[in-house]
Formats: sequence, C-alpha cells, structure tokens
Amino acid sequence: MVPVKKKRVIIEIEQNAYEQIYQALERFGDYEIGGMLVGYKKGDSYFPIANATVADDVGSFNIAAFIREPIKSMKILLRAFKRKGYNYIGEWHSHPKFKLYPSTADIETMKAILDDPGYGVNFALLVITKFRKGKVDMAGFLFHKDMSQFVEASVSGNNLRMGQIDLTV
Ligand SMILES: [Zn+2]
Repeated sequence: MVPVKKKRVIIEIEQNAYEQIYQALERFGDYEIGGMLVGYKKGDSYFPIANATVADDVGSFNIAAFIREPIKSMKILLRAFKRKGYNYIGEWHSHPKFKLYPSTADIETMKAILDDPGYGVNFALLVITKFRKGKVDMAGFLFHKDMSQFVEASVSGNNLRMGQIDLTV
C-alpha cells in the first residue's frame, strides 16, 4: 500500500450543531440517539460542522437501526443540504451507558457509508458523545477509504459551547 501523506485536519463543532447535540442528549437521556453531521469546507483542511441532525423519527434506538433504517430519508436530507453548499461530514450518536469508542456495528456502518456511492465521500467522521456532569463529552474518529483502520481524533476546546476535533490523517 502507498503510504498516505500526513495531514492535519480540524473539524469544529459550531454552536448551532453543539446545541442540537446537547438538546438531543438531554431529551433522550439513557436512550441512544444520533444523526448526521453536516458542514462545509473552509480552506484546505478545516471543516466547521454547522448542523447535527437528530434521527428522532425512529422508534428503535438501537445504534445499527437508527443509522441504517432511515438511510433513505437521510439521503433526501443530504441532497437538500448539498443544494445549500453543505457537505456530509459524518455521523454522530450517543453511548449513554458505555465508553466513547466505536462498536463493531459502528465500524461496519461507517465502512458501508464509505462504500455507498449515494454518499460519495472518501472520508467520514464518527463522533460519539455522552452527557457527563451537564457537559457534552465527545470522541471523534475518522474513517477513510484509503485507511484500513480508523483514526482517533483528539477533541479540544471542548468547553460548554463547542468542541474542536483535531485530526492527523
Ligand atoms: Zn456506537
């Protein structure tokens, strides 16, 4: 395999997206919840996330279910965002009762997204989050078509308002 050139990528959760995640975590409590991360490209390797959608139309909060079942409606949403100049950045969901690390189902879901021409992306970010002491804890993982393993990102500036996800890919 050709070695991939290292590059620093910064993904910033903007206030609007942060509040969408905060409110969903507050509302769903011990149930898993998630959705899409939608943002735009600013410069070469800076991706602000403007929107975190919430898949709250789904009855089952099983992680695999809420990402896979509504895939059709997500694609409709995705096209609407694209018309406004936004790009699909990835997925987010909560792990209210277990650690902020991708499960086997999470990894399979992310790989399926990269293989799906409907998304048409080379990379996708997975943000796993939970509420802890009134604060949103986040972990970021980057999945890339050229990499057999995902990359764990460091999440910095994770204060009450927003988080910045720092990646070296
Ligand atoms: Zn998960």
